[in-house]
Amino acid sequence: MRYQRVLIKLSGQAISGKQDFGFDPEALEHIAEEVLSLHAQGIQISIVIGGGNIFRGNLGAQWGLERAEADNIGMMGTIVNSLMLRGVLTSHSKGQAEVRVMSAIPVNTVAEPFIRLRAIHHLEQGYIVIFAGGTGNPYVTTDYPAAQRAIETRSDALLFAKNRARGIFTADPQKDPAARFYHRMRYNTILRQNLSIVDHSSIILARDHQMPLHLFNFTERGTMLRICQGEDVGTLVADVGEDVLE
Ligand code: UDP
Repeated sequence: MRYQRVLIKLSGQAISGKQDFGFDPEALEHIAEEVLSLHAQGIQISIVIGGGNIFRGNLGAQWGLERAEADNIGMMGTIVNSLMLRGVLTSHSKGQAEVRVMSAIPVNTVAEPFIRLRAIHHLEQGYIVIFAGGTGNPYVTTDYPAAQRAIETRSDALLFAKNRARGIFTADPQKDPAARFYHRMRYNTILRQNLSIVDHSSIILARDHQMPLHLFNFTERGTMLRICQGEDVGTLVADVGEDVLE
């Protein structure tokens, strides 16, 4: 295995499946199968799940909400998703996988508080750890805590699961037929080209701590396992060599 410990970033859409909002049992089953296939190989796994299937802070203005309040609602959504994911992972593994939710926002009767060293200890025990509540602070999306928690827990890589894209392109391939695909790229290329596939605050944090990022099409079965085994499926973002375009 190339990676022993990974953090998986799932968007809320990974849970809502073909619809934009809510929960889809088939999508949840797919997540459980993909995550548990890594767990079966002894890979240590943590997860940050977004909340876009419930609410996003940037929708606040159209609801007449102050941004910080809207972001709080978004963060609460990530807690709901994390509990759903814990339930599904536990039942699909028939109780074989121990799954813990650690929240940045205190919700003490339903989840543990986030304590960094305890999270690392859980991972060492082979528990799957889900980080809920984002950073606990407004004005960022869950892309940021995905990089933050990956670094904090000394993960080998951050796997950004995408639902529609197979990785990063020079431009939106839906709009620009001349768009080219990056097999590998440096962090600064994303910033310089102003590519919006992952929040730039997250890219900067990953760059400053040299956390490798993989972006890949999550709907394709087995991709995460192939990446952990050493295959470069999708786009790898890391400061090794020059950018490699298809
Ligand atoms: N959020 C926040 N602080 C954080 C993480 C998330 O305020 O540290 C809020 C923000 O409003 C965000 C929402 O939670 O829009 C849901 O997360 P995200 O948009 O990342 O969900 P995804 O697009 O991945 O489904």
